[in-house]
Amino acid sequence: MNNQSSHVDVVVVGAGYAGLTAARDLKKAGVSVVVLEADDRVGGRSMPGSIAGYVVDLGGQWVGSNQTHLLNLAKEFGVKMYPQYVGGEHILDVTGREARYKEGEDLPLEPADLAEFNRLVGEIEAVAGKVDVAAPWTVEGADGFDAQTFENWLQNSTTSEPARAVHRLIAQTIFCSQPGQLSPLTAIFYAAADEGIEHMIGTVGGAQETLFVGGAWQMASKMAEELGDAVIVNAPVRSIAQTDGGVTVTSDAGVWTAALAVVATAPPMAGRISYTPPMPPRRDALTQRMPMGSIIKLHVAYQTPFWRDKGLSGAILSDRTVTGMWMDHTIPGVETGGMVGFFAGGHAQAWAERSPEERRARAIEDLVTYLGPEANNPIEYVEQSWLAAPWQRGAYMAIPSPGALTAFGPALREPVGRIHWAGTETADVNVGYIDGAIQSGERVAGEIVKQLKP
Ligand SMILES: Cc1cc2nc3c(=O)[nH]c(=O)nc-3n(C[C@H](O)[C@H](O)[C@H](O)COP(=O)(O)OP(=O)(O)OC[C@H]3O[C@@H](n4cnc5c(N)ncnc54)[C@H](O)[C@@H]3O)c2cc1C
Repeated sequence: MNNQSSHVDVVVVGAGYAGLTAARDLKKAGVSVVVLEADDRVGGRSMPGSIAGYVVDLGGQWVGSNQTHLLNLAKEFGVKMYPQYVGGEHILDVTGREARYKEGEDLPLEPADLAEFNRLVGEIEAVAGKVDVAAPWTVEGADGFDAQTFENWLQNSTTSEPARAVHRLIAQTIFCSQPGQLSPLTAIFYAAADEGIEHMIGTVGGAQETLFVGGAWQMASKMAEELGDAVIVNAPVRSIAQTDGGVTVTSDAGVWTAALAVVATAPPMAGRISYTPPMPPRRDALTQRMPMGSIIKLHVAYQTPFWRDKGLSGAILSDRTVTGMWMDHTIPGVETGGMVGFFAGGHAQAWAERSPEERRARAIEDLVTYLGPEANNPIEYVEQSWLAAPWQRGAYMAIPSPGALTAFGPALREPVGRIHWAGTETADVNVGYIDGAIQSGERVAGEIVKQLKP
């Protein structure tokens, strides 16, 4: 504890994209801020790593063309981008049938199964089209969609096992959850916020279209640089007390008093802070019912992207293997080949307490299944288990348990006295993405500037 103590207008808790954006906007508006970050680095669920001598993202990495908050920030900081490689054929392996297809083509399912898959996407997107993203619990039929699991909905909506299997993989790789751990209303909410399921799983024209040269973390780091001494790392906030006069925020790095606080962490992490007076029942119940998604991200480097010579794009979606999703992650102009993959949802939950060596062996075995024996000889393997990350405890986002959105949804964003909430889970565009985190930071800064400087 270094026992700093001082007064600012606003204390921001968390130096992820949401907290940094909020602080930056507040500072620009002449509001004094301090950002208290629990970790020893900024960026939160966006984090740099290194493999074979080049920088990769261990957290968020892709950006889609509709994610204008993030794109604008990259432009402002002069960060260059490159397209996701989609040459060659993708592999889809579900219910024991492996097939290949090219970018832009239909999924290679039997026609009847494809029709069922698309019908289910259409059902989700039809409801999503009516959703107010800021209040998805108000859509007609919300109670029914929230009172069941996505798995129950799949079981009751189709008899096509391949269609169900692809939707299960979507639950795992997009929501980092098992289909029994979220409700159809959550899928509808995300589809509404992120331009539909097809967009969320898509590459060209979708959310995995583009990457940042040097990684997606850079813009967070540049915002923190700009904020300078106002960002304090190794400063876990333990408690927030509020009175009619202001807030007192106690962290391991000291105590700050302020007019207002912004908690810019994922809801379950916000629920670990001690509040005086205690949170109202609805807010506390919400944070109890929004567990983090489960994801372990993997990077594997090879001498060359040898799969490209075999006519493969590197994109793999599979329910045969444990690591269910892979993409080519070869950086343009670099000789070495890169693959990025995931233990997602239940697989991440099952493998989180095994050793990195065991996970590496399993990941390589899975890659050999699809890319051939050359995959046995990586030059490096790097992983990040987000379930184990002490101040994030999972990713990509916190997923409401069935019933939580309709019962407690309004508490996501509603300020509690002098405490405001930000974070990608509170966004009303691109919820769950970096773009949503930035939008939430902008929204909260706007709310506060209105309050402090009417
Ligand atoms: C593996 C992975 C892949 C992803 N892929 C993509 C992608 O391709 N594209 C995309 O757009 N998004 C992706 N995401 C999601 C994206 O990274 C997140 O949506 C975004 O970074 C969330 O930002 P945030 O500011 O809302 O929250 P966070 O980044 O979680 O920031 C919250 C901060 O609060 C801190 N904190 C927590 N508790 C306390 C406390 N008590 N006191 C002080 N500080 C505290 C945390 O350490 C953290 O730094 C991915 C995430 C992961 C992990």
